[in-house]
Amino acid sequence: MRRVLPLLLLLAACDGDAMPALTHALRAPAHAAVPRDTVANDTAPDDTAPNDTVLVDAPAPSQLEAPAPEAETAPSLAEQVALPRTDALPEVGKWLAPARRCGRQGRRRFCNGPRRAPAPHGPAGALAARLGLGTHRAAAELVRAEPRGAWMEALKTELDLQPSAAPLHWPVDGARFGRGVTWRGRGRHRRPKHRGVDFTAEVGTPVRAVADALVAYADNTIDGYGNLLVLLHGGGEVSAYAHLEAIHVFPGQLVRAGQPVARAGNTGISRGPHLHMEWRAGGRVVDPMRRFPRAHLPGWMVREFEGEEALVCLRAGRP
Ligand SMILES: [Zn+2]
Repeated sequence: MRRVLPLLLLLAACDGDAMPALTHALRAPAHAAVPRDTVANDTAPDDTAPNDTVLVDAPAPSQLEAPAPEAETAPSLAEQVALPRTDALPEVGKWLAPARRCGRQGRRRFCNGPRRAPAPHGPAGALAARLGLGTHRAAAELVRAEPRGAWMEALKTELDLQPSAAPLHWPVDGARFGRGVTWRGRGRHRRPKHRGVDFTAEVGTPVRAVADALVAYADNTIDGYGNLLVLLHGGGEVSAYAHLEAIHVFPGQLVRAGQPVARAGNTGISRGPHLHMEWRAGGRVVDPMRRFPRAHLPGWMVREFEGEEALVCLRAGRP
């Protein structure tokens, strides 16, 4: 399905009418995409009803049933671990103990530090501990293989995080595309050379989650990546944010697309401040640029994508 999906989207793009229906069907549930403020406004009591509203006779007191006592519903796990919906970077109560991890990659010496990530706590910390998230092993697994069945089960049933083909949120406000995913070799031998996309970003610039996700890792134990944040998304995709100055969320927390989660930096093997972001599916590197809104992309890239789409339409005999 994952391989077929981009082609389906591409084919649907040839036919203007087919596209909205397909994207609508694939979109995340409405509650995931609509900000809570909007929902609240939509459902707020209407105190501006026009004067000509039809009035209905109020029932006599005897006809009224006694009001049911308000049921005390415990917050769901998803509500307990969700990051508050604000546009500010989350406050960090307690940071993990400082740690600097240095080593060598070939002849290059690197240091992954200084470590700047929050100490997990509360229901989210407990969830991460139960699922085995937040560890070096979990991070290594997430970038190399399909996510564990238990993680996907928890996403689906406990956190109601569903697969979504909605466009990804641009990760840094005002950032430009710097360098994309590059490959070496061809066909079956093709391997990623540069595994992610670099975005221009000054140190300290807020980094936003590209899609709704469960925080799976936030630490600096992966060589070369500096302070690294790894998010697990509803369809099993993984987004990783590297070289961060500081991470403001911890494993087990639920974040929404566009929420600020970290600050861009220059930690690990990095030649200057920037955000290196990776998008992976089934442990494989995927170039995410087609998933971002085109308004953010450089003109040459948009022309390239449109040219490829036109070619697919031509081959499929569609207008
Ligand atoms: Zn990079």
